[in-house]
Amino acid sequence: MALETNQFFDISKLPQEEGIIFWGISMNRIGNEQSAKKCFEYLKFIDTKIKRTDGIGMVTWYSDYLYFLSDEKAHVLRDRYKELMMQHKHGFLDLILKDNVWIKKAFSFYTFGQVILDNSEIYKSAYDKIYNIYKNDVTFQEYVDFDCKKGNHGLEEKEKIFILEEIVTIYLAAKGQLNFNNRFIQGTEQWVLQLYPGRSLKSEIYLFQLNPLKLFNPKNKFENSFYDLKHKVLYDYTRIDIDTFDFSEKDDLNIDFEQEKDNLLRVEIKNIEGKGKGLITKKDFKKDEVVFEVIGNTITYATDYTIPINETEKVEPRLSKSIAQYMNHSCEPNIYPSKDGRKYLAMKYVEQGEELVTNYAFLGFNFGEEKTINGKEPKKINSNCHCGFKNCKGKITAYNDLIDDEKEKYKDFVLPFLNIKKKL
Ligand SMILES: [Zn+2]
Repeated sequence: MALETNQFFDISKLPQEEGIIFWGISMNRIGNEQSAKKCFEYLKFIDTKIKRTDGIGMVTWYSDYLYFLSDEKAHVLRDRYKELMMQHKHGFLDLILKDNVWIKKAFSFYTFGQVILDNSEIYKSAYDKIYNIYKNDVTFQEYVDFDCKKGNHGLEEKEKIFILEEIVTIYLAAKGQLNFNNRFIQGTEQWVLQLYPGRSLKSEIYLFQLNPLKLFNPKNKFENSFYDLKHKVLYDYTRIDIDTFDFSEKDDLNIDFEQEKDNLLRVEIKNIEGKGKGLITKKDFKKDEVVFEVIGNTITYATDYTIPINETEKVEPRLSKSIAQYMNHSCEPNIYPSKDGRKYLAMKYVEQGEELVTNYAFLGFNFGEEKTINGKEPKKINSNCHCGFKNCKGKITAYNDLIDDEKEKYKDFVLPFLNIKKKL
């Protein structure tokens, strides 16, 4: 059956000839969606797509370049990324070497800067030509801006250059122009395929469709392809209509967009470094202004995600597909529950772009005490706090963990039943 425009399926089997799979590791995903454990899971999944083969090399690129996009001091970032990359590499290799089906030298690890430097003869002139085309192509510029926004990068020149460098590298790799330096497949690969958990960049698809350097690599059956590990889809860029293709990652969010549309005028969900997803304001809020509402029927048992409304009733926001499931805890909260527990309000002036965080101590005496509906203990909340404030207590607190001064300081912010019980 022929596939239509914007229609794609999973790969059934990878080709049996020697080949290379390569994946970029984004530094902001290295601890979650692309952790060593997660990468190993993806690898095991890819293994189900391999029949008998002459050999496949796997090449990892760490996008360390991203530290040019930060305002933090260079040495701080260098140390952090050096540490993160080495932990990731060793963590991944440890998992591989536990199991003797894998061949260590099939796995190579490079930083993004190394890939560019190693291939500088090819890379430099290719990049310069594409950059000149970009400078005169409004559509190309528009797509790079789109990718910068979607990736939560800024819109400064350096962020755009990063995207351009990234897509030029991927383009050259698929077209057989780059040396992967893999010790297992030493330049004899018949095919190369890029893998990444998530959808492609819009500008990347445009670059492949434009093919500005007129590069053709027919021996690589994936010369215009990309494999999305998360959605398990093999995209063929030649079959994508950029105007009608759905680039959103909506389906990754467990929320009901229609039901949440008023909340989403004020709040958006974004990935937050080291925390997973969180709620970010789209406007400024005055003290005591309503920030969002918790939508959903109540239940009387607790899970790791339940949000108490009062002493006995809770909302499980994953069941009701409410945005409240992405509300994080902080030792320095900026939102608190209304008396009826159904709204969250600003504790102070909150600016646009801030993360909305509450203190779980506002919501219950203890965690993990309530019995579930079938009598089992709910799981304890992972009690380490990663809020990042300088006065962080290091653990997530419940009301009973507060000292008397804090109970006094927070008395207007906690759910009413906590204050009443305290007085008895
Ligand atoms: Zn904290």
